[in-house]
Amino acid sequence: MLVGPPGTGKTLLAKAVAGEANVPFFSMSGSDFVEMFVGVGASRVRDLFRQAKEKAPCIIFIDEIDAVAHKRDARGGAGREDEQTLNQILVEMDGFDNDSGVIVMAATNRVDMLDKALLRPGRFDRHVNVTLPERKDRLEILKVHFKGKPVAEDVDLEALAKKTAGSSGADLANIANEAAITAAREGHKVVTNADLTEAFERVAIGPERKSKVMNDKERKITAYHEAGHAIVGHVLPDSDPVHKVTIIPRGSTGGVTWFLPPEDRSYKSVYELKDILARAMGGRVAEKLIFGADAVTTGASSDLRNVAELAKSMIIEEGMGDGTRNLVFPSEATGYYTITTGKPYSEKTAEQIDAEIKKLSNEASVRAENVLKANKAILDKLAEELLAHETLEEKELEPILKGAKLPETAKLHK
Ligand code: ZN
Repeated sequence: MLVGPPGTGKTLLAKAVAGEANVPFFSMSGSDFVEMFVGVGASRVRDLFRQAKEKAPCIIFIDEIDAVAHKRDARGGAGREDEQTLNQILVEMDGFDNDSGVIVMAATNRVDMLDKALLRPGRFDRHVNVTLPERKDRLEILKVHFKGKPVAEDVDLEALAKKTAGSSGADLANIANEAAITAAREGHKVVTNADLTEAFERVAIGPERKSKVMNDKERKITAYHEAGHAIVGHVLPDSDPVHKVTIIPRGSTGGVTWFLPPEDRSYKSVYELKDILARAMGGRVAEKLIFGADAVTTGASSDLRNVAELAKSMIIEEGMGDGTRNLVFPSEATGYYTITTGKPYSEKTAEQIDAEIKKLSNEASVRAENVLKANKAILDKLAEELLAHETLEEKELEPILKGAKLPETAKLHK
């Protein structure tokens, strides 16, 4: 059982195993069986295993096995069809002799959702974790995808590998393709570093929309909004450094502030997450400080959604609530619901969770406001520079942000 997030190459890995072993490769995808007539799924499974046995030695690969093999007691219930398909897979796997010469591999990104029967000894009892690539892996993957593409001297794949923490192999392939398309569109003979940057930002957020007209008022609001993110992120001690700020619209956003993690990290502390919440609030708070409470715009809606989601996961999944520290709560995915609340916990717990989430987002907004009030002159200066130049890179930001201070009221560390 290959376990890992989408796009990490689980299917490629299974094919590579068959290639190395020089044996036939039979595959099916769990999603093919969704909404099929009763009995069809099971008979397809029978056919697949029969064919495989005839061609043994060989490999059978079942992609997205969670689509047919989710827990039978999960909410929404596996329909009869899913259950029959799953049962047929189990029957077939149990029917193998040790020397049948057939190896069954499967892939999922949700091993926690799988029916336990599937994971018993003799079935899928060996798990291989296929994780997101780390920085040096990403560099190697990028090299593979740029092989055969002509690139300019200035192309810096290492810098791109650094910027793409959290990207899967498929995402990186996508960036490489976009870079080639961008170069072609711009009439470049080779892929330049600018094409690469454009491709990265395009994949991350969406295409630049230079044609989108913003009136002067909107540009000014956007400049203050982005300056707010940048300053709060810059000042808070556990936030990543600001990499770039722009008020050129991209995708559905009016502007973007990029933060750059200095290295890949597996864990984040409460301090770091609270700083992320505060810097996400920085945009809306800057709008409020400069233009007034009810002049704030819809430009902050995705920031607010991010805050709500991160705060929720901090409370429910990570046990990071101030009043619920070290307590986690069942999520919707676990499938247990109490009848009265429709949630997997009591009404009282639901209220407590809501209160903790609200507390996190309020705290973030207060900290952002305190930082921006203490650095009002820099906020004005940065907004002004953005209006004049539209995009500011690290080097240009440095002199502007110099001297920004962290007020006592925004500190978390003792
Ligand atoms: Zn924003």
